[in-house]
Amino acid sequence: MINRIKYLRISLLNSCNLNCFYCRPPQQENDTYVSKNYTNYQNSIKLLHTLGVEKIRFTGGEPTLYKQLPELMQFVKKTDPNIHTAMTSNAILLKKKAEQFADAGLDSVNISIDTLKAKKFCSVTGRDKWQDMIDGIEESIKYIPKVKLNTVLIRGTNDDEANDLIQFANRLKIDIRFIEFMPTKLNSENSEQYISGDEIKKRLPYNFVSTKNDPSTAARYLSSPDLDIKVGFINPVSHSFCAMCNRIRLTSDGRLYGCLFSGASFNLFDSLEQGYETASKEVHRLIAEKTYKGCSRKTGDSAFFPSFVNMGG
Ligand code: SAM
Repeated sequence: MINRIKYLRISLLNSCNLNCFYCRPPQQENDTYVSKNYTNYQNSIKLLHTLGVEKIRFTGGEPTLYKQLPELMQFVKKTDPNIHTAMTSNAILLKKKAEQFADAGLDSVNISIDTLKAKKFCSVTGRDKWQDMIDGIEESIKYIPKVKLNTVLIRGTNDDEANDLIQFANRLKIDIRFIEFMPTKLNSENSEQYISGDEIKKRLPYNFVSTKNDPSTAARYLSSPDLDIKVGFINPVSHSFCAMCNRIRLTSDGRLYGCLFSGASFNLFDSLEQGYETASKEVHRLIAEKTYKGCSRKTGDSAFFPSFVNMGG
């Protein structure tokens, strides 16, 4: 048992069908769209479940580009039907694939939506695919048991849309969470675009009340008599939630990380080749040495990784 660690996030691949400036800076290339690592992922999931993982989130890059994702979801459910199987996606491919993922066992999806304006979507993501995202959200609601929206707050880009996004989510009857912009090695020039969750909350026209929160989730949820949904704030920069952290992260090159803001890691795929016992010892060592130092706003002081497209957000 790795005591408090229950939640594994797998960044399945670096590739993405969008180029969000805050997530994948221009110097970052797509890797190829090949479905590599399938057996490595299976073995990693098997081991980490044995050690206590109860929830797995597939992310990336864009996880829906990973060709064997439905099989991997089925594998998770076959390993243990009680493992909560989640995904974070930009929804571009979900119009076509939501039903297939739901059939494969996907329990919940968090969909990234940074703007309700098609033209702005194009300038943030570099792609003219706003309508595909909207269609993907609608199709997901039809098939996937739990759908939530995620918006990264960017001063001067979408901070004026927070209420419109809440109203959009309210019409669809799905919760929305606002995420503070986090610095990485490659997005330092954007750090003045940071805006705190508290500043956004103050601007909103609701009498918010706190709801009962699952202590291990990063979001603090609020409700309002004027809304049918909950509004969550994920404020890693202004309010550290390290004390509740129950997660570890696996990247597509096989590295297992204990913390988004610490480079401490080892290659789980290599370690599994030495057998489950060796890999298990390494996992325990990583967890024992896991840091809880939080995210600083100052780039370089904080993230060690080039961009979120590698780490999975
Ligand atoms: N492609 C998928 C998507 O768009 O949701 C999954 C990968 S994406 C890296 C996962 C999450 O990280 C998204 O919600 C994204 O908005 C968030 N993210 C990316 N860069 C970020 C940054 N600099 N600060 C905060 N969140 C970020």
